Amino acid sequence: MDDIVIVGSGHAGFQLASALRQQGRDGRIVLIGDEPHLPYQRPPLSKDYLKGPMLPEDLRFWSEKQFSDKSIERVAGTRVTAIDRRDGAVVLADGSRVGFGHLVLATGTRNRMLSLSGSDLDGILGLRTVDDAAAIRAGLEEAQSVVVIGGGFIGLEIAATVALSGRPVTVVETTGRVMGRAVCEAVSRHHEGVLAALGVAFRFHAGVARCLGDEGRVRAVELAGGDVLAADLVIVGIGVLPNDDLAAAAGLAVDDGVLVDAGLATADPRIFAIGDCARHPSLHATAPVRIESVQNAADQARLVAARLAGKPTEPYGAVPWFWSHQGDLKLQIAGLAHGADETVLRGAPEDGAFSAFRYRAGRLVAVESVGRPADHMVARRLVGGGIALSPAEAADEGFDLKAHAM
Ligand code: FAD
Repeated sequence: MDDIVIVGSGHAGFQLASALRQQGRDGRIVLIGDEPHLPYQRPPLSKDYLKGPMLPEDLRFWSEKQFSDKSIERVAGTRVTAIDRRDGAVVLADGSRVGFGHLVLATGTRNRMLSLSGSDLDGILGLRTVDDAAAIRAGLEEAQSVVVIGGGFIGLEIAATVALSGRPVTVVETTGRVMGRAVCEAVSRHHEGVLAALGVAFRFHAGVARCLGDEGRVRAVELAGGDVLAADLVIVGIGVLPNDDLAAAAGLAVDDGVLVDAGLATADPRIFAIGDCARHPSLHATAPVRIESVQNAADQARLVAARLAGKPTEPYGAVPWFWSHQGDLKLQIAGLAHGADETVLRGAPEDGAFSAFRYRAGRLVAVESVGRPADHMVARRLVGGGIALSPAEAADEGFDLKAHAM
């Protein structure tokens, strides 16, 4: 018996189940997820979905029938609470067990939440699931003023949507610029300027001291310096934590994510981890990384599907890429900029479209493109293929990047 059990029915779990059948893998596949819904896409949740009138059905990958046509068993709305490695089984919340020949952990991440006075008031919400998005959408219908805590991708996407709906919104950020962990200063400043023009207010170097409310509902956010921002809806976007506790409890190595090798296997060769929950060696970074993106979830799923279907595979080396849409701003990132020590711009931010080429020790490691999809597509080839490109060539608009990347 080599039943495949997948824990987590998000992007990675779904992609794995479908890719296994595509790769010709027969036999039992069981996809277990704690959300009650059919597997769905998360990126629209902080973008078009908040504006309405999209329905949860519009986000689904497959219908119930498509799962049954492919003989993929789904266990929905049920948590896996333990992995019994000795007997090769997972334990579900109701105590029942599902045996596995191979197990794939695709448990994703959970939101970090605030933990301070008043943070349990109604009207303070995070965004991870379609149910969270429904709650935010409902909150936005009534909200007079919104505070977004955290100037990362999701916080800014939501702030742009709120501003476009004509309501006051303030982003509170502890560092000095938006998306500071992910992009260079020029891209941060450009987004800040465009979003400010839409009506988004920013408070940088600002910590939240407490949330204030009455009758159990949030009414304001007090900053560490004592300023009080009116808010009847507070969105918390302060990052995520990997769901690696199941693996840790089963004696598998974790370190801010389930540790896997370049073939995405844990130290137990029957058990893999993929997607947001996995920390893996990368050709594109100097240390193992955990990547939170659809591309990574899908590419890792395909690699493990190929392995489990008995196909030859290369070590995981897909070039990481990511996108974020904030109002009309279309940001696309190829590669990982960790440790970048030099940045050059191609095009000018004041023209509304430019790319930032990021170098580490003279090597091109990432490209952040704003409104320049052609640069992004070339960047994937350049970074993925390790094709040398000097900073001077990158900055020269007359230099034919596309031809160079061929
Ligand atoms: P998830 O999709 O999070 O799925 C994990 C699933 O496992 C969840 O359903 C979870 O509830 C379940 N689970 C966890 N533990 C258990 C357990 N013990 N038992 C059963 N089930 C369990 N990425 C981009 O590339 N571009 C974007 O624009 C973008 N926008 C985003 C917007 C939002 C609002 C969010 C939340 C994410 C966005 N992302 C984006 C990130 C992208 O959605 C994730 O990288 C991707 O979903 C990761 O897939 P995953 O399967 O690893 O995790």
